[in-house]
Amino acid sequence: MAILPILPTQHAMLRRVCSRVRKVDKTIRRLLDDMTESMDAANGLGLSGPQVGKPLRAIVVRVGEDHLQLVNPEIVRSAGELIGEEGCLSLPYYYGPVARAAEITVQALDRNGRKVRRKAEGLLARALQHEIDHLHGILFTDKLVEGSELRFAPSRPAPTRSEA
Ligand code: ZN
Repeated sequence: MAILPILPTQHAMLRRVCSRVRKVDKTIRRLLDDMTESMDAANGLGLSGPQVGKPLRAIVVRVGEDHLQLVNPEIVRSAGELIGEEGCLSLPYYYGPVARAAEITVQALDRNGRKVRRKAEGLLARALQHEIDHLHGILFTDKLVEGSELRFAPSRPAPTRSEA
């Protein structure tokens, strides 16, 4: 496994609409594992393909005991709305309020190419929506609650950056 460099939000890759993965093979599994390692090293809740320079529909999320590695994820149901503070590994130290669905159901392929359906709520639902947005070139800063501003909070635990 390897820790991949995480691209900043100004990078053009972060605005691309990513391609569907045609076949979940060894290369994709390796990418998912590298993404998980990179997310963990950066103390993040989630990471998407384009953030590590791969314009593919692949995401990883870790919230509490839930660790998901999903390919071609799609939100097939959503309900409610919650405003919560978000940040992004591609924009370290900046945070802002974003409204997200409170509960979602995601359909995707797992690391073995099997179809999975997963219900999520709270922080897990928020992280999944944030990562799926990345696959469409959308950043949380595009969705800040009207009238709010990004907050710079360098005193928060610093995401560690490592390149290997
Ligand atoms: Zn992000």
